[in-house]
Amino acid sequence: MDITNIKEWVSLRTKGGVHAPHRKHTADCETVVMPPPERIILAMSQHIGVPCKPVVKVGDYVEVGQVVADSDQPVSAPIHSGVSGKVAAMTELLLPGGLKTAALMIESDGEQRIHESVKPPVVENYDDFIKAVRASGLVGLGGAGFPAHIKLQPRNFDAVDTVIVNAAECEPYITSDYRECMENSWDIVSGVQTLMEFLDTARVIIAVEKNKPAAISELSRIAAEVTRAGHEVIVKPLPARYPQGAEKVLIQACTGRRVPPGKLPSDVGCIVMNVASVAFLSRYLKTGMPLVDKRVTVDGSAISRPKNVRVIIGTPIHEVISFCGGTKFKTRKLLMGGPMMGLALMNDELPVLKQNNAILALSEEDIQLTEPSTCIRCGRCVSACPMNLVPPSIAAAYQNKDTNAMEKLGVMTCMECGCCTYSCPAHRQIVQTMRMGKGDVRKAAAAKAEATSTAKAENQPAKQAVTAGK
Ligand code: SF4
Ligand code: SF4
Repeated sequence: MDITNIKEWVSLRTKGGVHAPHRKHTADCETVVMPPPERIILAMSQHIGVPCKPVVKVGDYVEVGQVVADSDQPVSAPIHSGVSGKVAAMTELLLPGGLKTAALMIESDGEQRIHESVKPPVVENYDDFIKAVRASGLVGLGGAGFPAHIKLQPRNFDAVDTVIVNAAECEPYITSDYRECMENSWDIVSGVQTLMEFLDTARVIIAVEKNKPAAISELSRIAAEVTRAGHEVIVKPLPARYPQGAEKVLIQACTGRRVPPGKLPSDVGCIVMNVASVAFLSRYLKTGMPLVDKRVTVDGSAISRPKNVRVIIGTPIHEVISFCGGTKFKTRKLLMGGPMMGLALMNDELPVLKQNNAILALSEEDIQLTEPSTCIRCGRCVSACPMNLVPPSIAAAYQNKDTNAMEKLGVMTCMECGCCTYSCPAHRQIVQTMRMGKGDVRKAAAAKAEATSTAKAENQPAKQAVTAGK
């Protein structure tokens, strides 16, 4: 290896992470389409940003692909019905993470009538493209749920030279993106071509972990066919190490560029999009069918027949589990998402959300409830942290309710990947402490902002009096 390659290797080598068992049991399970449920429940908050408001009312008849909720705020995405039928009720849901949201319940008539608005959008330029992406209702399908039309309009658009298609799928159990690669590779490549055209990007990197050789070979085969002069599509195999698919880790592993704390991928010239999002975009531009269904991995030791299921968004989770044969053991923990970053569910009544890529029902055999013991200062959490944080120091600041110290120690850059908790021999619930610490810092900032605005308002009459007296 020459010196240039050593330098490149060093720049691409990311810090931290853990070797979690892959448990990709459903990797070879071709996606099964679940029949439409009798009713769907559409949460108004299915993305990062401002929740939607219903644009239909109880009693209205709606059809597949019809917009049923929207927002006039920029960081949001419309919500469409995945069934035809009647709006039965407006209700409320408590989402995992404690967020309360309004929701629409739609009773299906079983007809699956398609709404007249479902037709391929006319896209002739970048503005049309962004409008179409917004109209599609697309949010990051890898779990983040960030509205795609916002991601595709970075403030420093001209500095972006690389699009990274995230097919790393580093969370244990989840294989929904892998199945996208195996079943819809041409949609992915067509989506990549669309991105290159409208973002005018010369380089697209499709990042896949090395433990998915079949996906690497399938994507490499078709990527070679679409690479043309001045534009390259590279399939980049990456070490299978969690959290390889985390945006900042991925950018460094693919380009050697480090996203500084508080900065965005576009600040280092990159846009990262999930592979299923890219494939969806290509299908939407061809058919006009918005985001009304998605592939979800259903797995975990309690599930009778683990599989990948294409399911209508809003389907209650217990119905998805029943479709997979129900449970064979008592569920000790039900998760929306993977075991590292997924959110624990209180019950299985909640519906599938746009950004929900897995449902895991774990039995006793997967849950080790070991009491946490005193920190032995081994430093393993520090080595495992991909964000260069020092979790024990942040935990101490949290105990002392010192939000200033937590902020200085970088708690807000914690991406809640769970590597610290996973590697801790004392079984300390470090990631929970990070989450609560971030909550405290946000609350302190809000209280400070409120105090400042109250002080300004109180000073106003005094100033006016002084001015009037002059
Ligand atoms: S959860 Fe936060 S503190 Fe823990 S390893 Fe991940 S980024 Fe670091
Ligand atoms: S890994 Fe656990 S025991 Fe070791 S320093 Fe971190 S918190 Fe303490």
